[in-house]
Amino acid sequence: MIRLSLPYIKRDEIEEVTKVLNSRYLVQGEKVRQFEEIISRYLRVKYCIAVSSGTAALHLALLAVGVKKGDEVIVPDFTFPATANAVELVGANTKFVDINLDSFCMDADRIEEKITEKAKAIIPVHEFGQSADMDKIMDIARKYKLKVVEDAACALGTEYKGEKVGTIGKVGCFSFHARKPITTGEGGMIATNNEEIAKKVRILRNHGEKSINGKADFVEAGFNYRMTDIQAAIGIAQMKKIKEMMDYRKQIADEYNKFLKDETLLTIPCEKGYGKHIYQTYHVLLHNSINRDFVKEKLKENGVESNLGAYAVHCQSYYRNKYKLNDENFQNSLYSYKKGLALPMYYELDLKEIKFICDCIKKSILWGDKNKI
Ligand SMILES: *Cc1c(COP(=O)(O)O)cnc(C)c1O
Repeated sequence: MIRLSLPYIKRDEIEEVTKVLNSRYLVQGEKVRQFEEIISRYLRVKYCIAVSSGTAALHLALLAVGVKKGDEVIVPDFTFPATANAVELVGANTKFVDINLDSFCMDADRIEEKITEKAKAIIPVHEFGQSADMDKIMDIARKYKLKVVEDAACALGTEYKGEKVGTIGKVGCFSFHARKPITTGEGGMIATNNEEIAKKVRILRNHGEKSINGKADFVEAGFNYRMTDIQAAIGIAQMKKIKEMMDYRKQIADEYNKFLKDETLLTIPCEKGYGKHIYQTYHVLLHNSINRDFVKEKLKENGVESNLGAYAVHCQSYYRNKYKLNDENFQNSLYSYKKGLALPMYYELDLKEIKFICDCIKKSILWGDKNKI
């Protein structure tokens, strides 16, 4: 079976983790501090705070920028539901915006129609490793005084006009889940240039504890969202090869494009001229006539794993029940949810296998097209 995704774990990671285990110091400590420093140098951002997941990063980021019960937060409809879940977790309400079909990111031209006097923040998602349209989003945020929390969960290394995403808004959130560009198993990072936000996040991730003259005090009802030194050790090893891993992802994408660009029953991903796509996911859109789930099954029969890319969040049960939104307003998101297909993408995927995968796709699509429902 050719897997959809496979973390690249080699001797480096195993040796780093072994050192931590032998030290018997397992919880957040020196390794976490080093990992934060490495990421902050990589992103060229002042403060990085490691946490237990990308979702924890989003949750703390929203709290730190002051989003509260009753506020509204603008979120793209097509994403992993964690983006919207974080909004709901702080007691705010999610305002969904449809996406563009080329970038799969929030349609910046449709943000303003969702803004009311309750709007407090906006969460652009850099979907599949490509940047959202940040100039437009930052302009709208300035005009309406909204805080921008970037969901860069799948976009470590992605660039927008030469700047690393996750450092453009007030706060950036990253994930190190095993399917992300680099992994710590589970893990997350908050990036910011704002000292107050950094301080607040550090307190909230560790039970609300603040050290005052060497004495611990609990100044907030905080969380335990800490990363362990075991996880940070994996992350440190991964960061040593981020460039090679990133370059190789681009090569895989180019190879897919080569074989799929003339296929009329699907659309290959579009690279927006404003930035650098890191291809956390290689995501194609199938023609409306094709049943994606049939194609996925056919691929599986041929030993190729694939999956839907992301969810139309407004129609997941919790959001459907709470907001009862009209599908008409989310046509691009719904289309991508129904017809989007993520293909195998990882460092150890042999370039020679891409042609085989593409041949399977072409066969499966023809089959899917004949068996439309
Ligand atoms: C993966 C992902 C998350 C959640 O990150 P976890 O580390 O799994 O909690 C949030 N948003 C997006 C866009 C993601 O891709």
